[in-house]
Amino acid sequence: MQARGSQELWAEDPELAAALDREVAYQDDTLQLVAHASLAAPSVLSAAGSALANATAEGYPGARYHPGAVQFDQVERLAVERAKAAFRARYANVQPHSCSSANLTVLFTLLAPGDTVLSLDLDSGGHLTHGAAASVTGRYFDVVHYGLDADGYIDEDQAARLALEHRPRLVVVGASAYPRTPDYARFRAISDSVGAYLLADISHVAGLVAAGVHPSPVDLAHITTSSTYKQLGGPRGGIILSGRDFDRPGPDGTPLYRLLQRGVFPLSQGTPNPSAIAAKARALALVAQPEFTATAKAIAANAAALAVALDKRGWPVLTGGTENHTVLLDTYRRGITGAVAETALESCGIHANKNRIRGDTKPPLVTSGLRLGTNITAQRGMREDDMDDCAGLVDRVLTTIRPTGDRTYDLTARDRDEIRSRVAEVCRRFPTVYHDRRA
Ligand SMILES: *Cc1c(COP(=O)(O)O)cnc(C)c1O
Repeated sequence: MQARGSQELWAEDPELAAALDREVAYQDDTLQLVAHASLAAPSVLSAAGSALANATAEGYPGARYHPGAVQFDQVERLAVERAKAAFRARYANVQPHSCSSANLTVLFTLLAPGDTVLSLDLDSGGHLTHGAAASVTGRYFDVVHYGLDADGYIDEDQAARLALEHRPRLVVVGASAYPRTPDYARFRAISDSVGAYLLADISHVAGLVAAGVHPSPVDLAHITTSSTYKQLGGPRGGIILSGRDFDRPGPDGTPLYRLLQRGVFPLSQGTPNPSAIAAKARALALVAQPEFTATAKAIAANAAALAVALDKRGWPVLTGGTENHTVLLDTYRRGITGAVAETALESCGIHANKNRIRGDTKPPLVTSGLRLGTNITAQRGMREDDMDDCAGLVDRVLTTIRPTGDRTYDLTARDRDEIRSRVAEVCRRFPTVYHDRRA
């Protein structure tokens, strides 16, 4: 089926087919040091492109509002069972179209508009859907933010103080740009001190959690949410998990898992995406393989090595290192904005993204920081020793450019081409899983 679809695409729409094919080569030839992505295995992509996409059925396995869900029921049950197994959870919902949808579901299920939410603020590494002003979550809820201490670590004492002062109904722990391990048990204690629910958002570290490389919050939080593409090698999408507290009574006395089922559908979504759920099932099966655990260990070891190698070259590494896949740099301390760093690196074939950092004085599209991650380098087979090469290439770009403004810099074509060829050489040594599929 896939082969036929691909042949038809080439025959009937070569413009689109060529663009998709170029993307494969592009990913293979780029040194991806972003923290927010992983490579989906070819079998995951195949499941995502299957004819199950044509099944339209609201509801859940065995209780659909439409006919024709025989296979879909089986696939969704598989995905749920695999999600529970991967995270040692008692409950899983695999229908959220994204982690943003998953978070909206949780907030709108457990809270009434105007209720108070306590979460990490955006500049400290939090996420939009944790109540940022620009998000619908900031518009409907009364949001109080905790931040980081002077060393860049989550300030749990501040969170505890703010909880007592503002008595939130929900506390969120979890971040998009945070290189350390939150104290999940402390956050549960903070939540319990005011009778709040605890939501753990593990979007960024889900792979490390599943592999046991990062502590699991699943039994400590009431509810855990995640994306499936960031570190799980899955399709674009989200999941909702619950551990020990899955059947604890919610605000109206109904068990949490029942509230969450209704919270996804019909409260916040319509039909689920069957082929994405098939791809989640496939990715979660891979999560259970020993290779996944080995890769997760390499992700964390690589990030630690990358932090050391960048620090050695004089780059200010926030918190002085990392315990997960993320390395955060304060590039502006060396006169380079996040925007300049990101653009210059991209022009040389390296992807890492600009990121606001604590106390940032630059706007969101400029920023003072750079976020790097090691998910994909580990998936490509790079190990700790190879991180020195990666840090060397990043350093080479950032020390060769001459910044001329917040978004502008000079880099000669000769220097750029010379760095690009070195990047290409590293990429050739560590091909992606898609390499043999290239034309
Ligand atoms: C990326 C991210 C999300 C949103 O995930 P999407 O699946 O892209 O909607 C939510 N929470 C955190 C912490 C994230 O980093």
